[in-house]
Amino acid sequence: MDLLLAKDDYAGLKQLIEDNKIKCAISKTCNWTDVRQFNLMFSTEFGAVAADNPDDNKVYLRPETAQGIFVNFLNVQKTGRMKIPFGIAQTGKAFRNEIVARQFIFRMREFEQMEMQFFIRPGTQMEWYKFWSEERIKWHQSLGIPAEKLRFHDHVKLAHYADAAMDIEFEFPFGWKELEGIHSRTDFDLKQHQEFSKKKIQYFDNDIDAATNKPYGNYTPFVVETSVGLDRLFLTIISLAYAEEKWLKEDGTEDSRVVLKIPAKIAPTKLAILPLLKKDGLPEIAKQLMDDCKSSFMCFYEEKDAIGKRYRRMDAIGTPFCVTIDHQTKEDNTVTIRYRDTMVQERIALADVKRLVMEKII
Ligand code: ATP
Repeated sequence: MDLLLAKDDYAGLKQLIEDNKIKCAISKTCNWTDVRQFNLMFSTEFGAVAADNPDDNKVYLRPETAQGIFVNFLNVQKTGRMKIPFGIAQTGKAFRNEIVARQFIFRMREFEQMEMQFFIRPGTQMEWYKFWSEERIKWHQSLGIPAEKLRFHDHVKLAHYADAAMDIEFEFPFGWKELEGIHSRTDFDLKQHQEFSKKKIQYFDNDIDAATNKPYGNYTPFVVETSVGLDRLFLTIISLAYAEEKWLKEDGTEDSRVVLKIPAKIAPTKLAILPLLKKDGLPEIAKQLMDDCKSSFMCFYEEKDAIGKRYRRMDAIGTPFCVTIDHQTKEDNTVTIRYRDTMVQERIALADVKRLVMEKII
């Protein structure tokens, strides 16, 4: 079978299935269609005018962002005067003709990838592969993802270009799934680009090799790649942050809220500035605070509705801090700060608000 697959011999594969009387596990019949290749990529036509033969103008939407980095390797290395080891990272759209695109934004046909190709000396790939797998899991934890919800999964079957590969998996509400891929891609990609572009893609390493006492010289760098889906990461953060909470108030009635417990450093809005009333000079003090803070982090100003309602709206969009300016502010320059996750409120100096928020978001 491997031989037939290698030769793309689909008629031969169908014959093999029929000769062995292989049955469909579901229908228990041998009523097979012809063997066909899955369309893994999206094709389209290039150019303003349709070609007589559509194949002449056929192009494919990229299924990963990596190849743009490989094509630009020499540009970046030479213009940036980079020495190996160094990495190039970028984010961009990728398109895959997924057979089943499901589970909200977990698997889509158009998605956003954040990839890094780290260029290294041949032979050092296992060292860097280990380094990046550890760095990347630490990075996910730095976004507030608990360590027990992350794990490594080594690939047993490797892609033809890789000599080691693993996934960082996250425990989604629907089970453990890949969040990021880490691959040791050898020199496969650069060599392919070199072969088909007929342009030399090599690096001259003038560091001294201790074994030979001579410079390492010219080589095609090896690559360790880290590749994470931005949308999938967003789903990770949201699935951890979203909570519906209920509790009993002092009078025995029930209260509830929807809250996004997004870590302060990645919450879209950091601070809500809420004058208790629309009058008595309170909006002026609030706007002054807004002016002090708005160039340092994202703030939201609101004077409409009861304060409780305003807090709930901020909970629902994940704003970690709300500051209320009231009549006491006019007397002693203090404000009430309310913390989203605990709903605890405390009185602090107006002059300390900006510093307190800055400390929590860096
Ligand atoms: P999977 O096993 O989930 O199909 P993959 O092994 O094909 O993923 P890679 O090629 O390693 O994924 O892509 C790197 C990252 O891009 C994945 O870890 C994932 O976060 C993201 N990704 C891949 N395919 C999709 C998709 N269809 N929709 C959203 N994100 C995706």
